[in-house]
Amino acid sequence: MKIIEPQKEIPVIAETDVLIVGGGPAGLTAAIASGRLGAKTMIVERYGCLGGMLTQAGVESFAWYRHEGTVDCEGIGREYEVRAQEAGFARQEPQSKSLAIDTEGFKVIADRMIAEANVTPLYHSWVVEVLKEGNTIYGVIVESKSGRGAILAKRIVDCTGDADVAALAGAPFNQRSTDKLMGVTVMFHCAGIDVQRFNKFVSEDLKPTYADWGKNWTIQTTGKEDDMFSPYMEEIFTKAQEEGVIPGDASAIAGTWSTFSEAGEAHQLNMVYSFGYDCTNAWDLTKAEIEGRQQALWAIDALKHYVPGFEKAKLRNFGMTLGTRESRLIVGETHIDDEHVLNQGRCDDSIGIFPEFIDGSGYLILPTTGRYFQIPYGCLVPQQVENLLVAGRSISGGVVAHTSMRNMMCCAVTGEGAGTAAAESLKQGVNARDVDMTLLQGTLVKQGVRIH
Ligand SMILES: Cc1cc2nc3c(=O)[nH]c(=O)nc-3n(C[C@H](O)[C@H](O)[C@H](O)COP(=O)(O)OP(=O)(O)OC[C@H]3O[C@@H](n4cnc5c(N)ncnc54)[C@H](O)[C@@H]3O)c2cc1C
Repeated sequence: MKIIEPQKEIPVIAETDVLIVGGGPAGLTAAIASGRLGAKTMIVERYGCLGGMLTQAGVESFAWYRHEGTVDCEGIGREYEVRAQEAGFARQEPQSKSLAIDTEGFKVIADRMIAEANVTPLYHSWVVEVLKEGNTIYGVIVESKSGRGAILAKRIVDCTGDADVAALAGAPFNQRSTDKLMGVTVMFHCAGIDVQRFNKFVSEDLKPTYADWGKNWTIQTTGKEDDMFSPYMEEIFTKAQEEGVIPGDASAIAGTWSTFSEAGEAHQLNMVYSFGYDCTNAWDLTKAEIEGRQQALWAIDALKHYVPGFEKAKLRNFGMTLGTRESRLIVGETHIDDEHVLNQGRCDDSIGIFPEFIDGSGYLILPTTGRYFQIPYGCLVPQQVENLLVAGRSISGGVVAHTSMRNMMCCAVTGEGAGTAAAESLKQGVNARDVDMTLLQGTLVKQGVRIH
């Protein structure tokens, strides 16, 4: 059954040069880049904080790929780690040469950084419709506690993760069938851990490596990863099922931990997976949240039963929303195919680089050897819609390419590229897709971005 929504007048609540939709690692970075270039910039976010999966799900390991030999990207993404450390909101990440970012503290850092870049934030507002004239997008409609309102903008950057704006604007996109999509996760965090006892257990008994990964996926490494330390647990959950501590059908429980605080908190327990859910479907999101919370409680029961240091563990909190890994990917002017990320792809329209870090869809490759690929501007430019750019995990690419580009630091790289291109194209007086590449690359390099 369908009904017709009655037409009504809605107020224009803001006009801006550049509008960023979604405030995750991509959107936050796009907004800062555009604001710093002097473009009048606004960011709209559906929840009450910026950071996306980082702050909303509690994904603190911003650069866990970094090792001795890594050739890393530079740019605004690197500033997040520095700012977090300066503010006392960072801890040593356990498996790499990087800092985990305190996901609560980062909410404040993000607020500060957009204020410093003169960006106007609007939180608690969902983008639910777009305004288009012909093929050109010129605004969006938001829904919030204040009702519906229109925001007019000369350039729009879709950083929703799900390519919501691109989809609403009629840009073509791909989405794999639900049986193929990567799993979703209810991230959880515990308190009451005896960290010393746990660390002793890990170093003396568990001795986990990447070769242990395997319950929820099969993975292909290059071989060099297999013996490296990985904060991963699997066997205890299998044992818990076999011995009846948790239900036998709780099959997708196994995964990683991250940092521990001095107060005995375990952060980013990424240990439960639900498969077969479409994160652009509210019914699926509902079921996955409910299933994931139950799985997390079972995971805690198993941890308490078998893991030294976790005997008195207590649920501290779930992520404030389900963690999504994969949904829509736009069809861009350029499509990054899997070979590009697996074989150090190069391109003329590079807006940044990302080290050879591939995590998901059957691969775990760590950038220990200095290999990296370039990211083409064309994969941020959707087909068929003018003055819209897309950054973050929904840019145009293949399945394996996505598992690299979905990582937060890479989302920050594409965010910086998109925010800079939006501002730069306005300055040049050309459509976003026609921005002069030499000038854009020059601006990015001046900002400290590594494009070669
Ligand atoms: C469980 C889990 C663990 C992960 N672990 C790691 C890890 O260890 N390291 C790593 O680098 N990456 C990890 N990732 C991947 C990474 O977190 C995401 O791919 C990354 O955050 C994507 O960034 P983004 O900016 O594209 O989107 P998101 O982080 O999803 O941000 C999108 C933002 O847009 C907002 N939004 C969405 N729709 C609308 C709308 N219609 N209107 C307004 N606002 C909207 C959202 O609220 C959100 O703030 C993990 C992901 C998951 C789910």
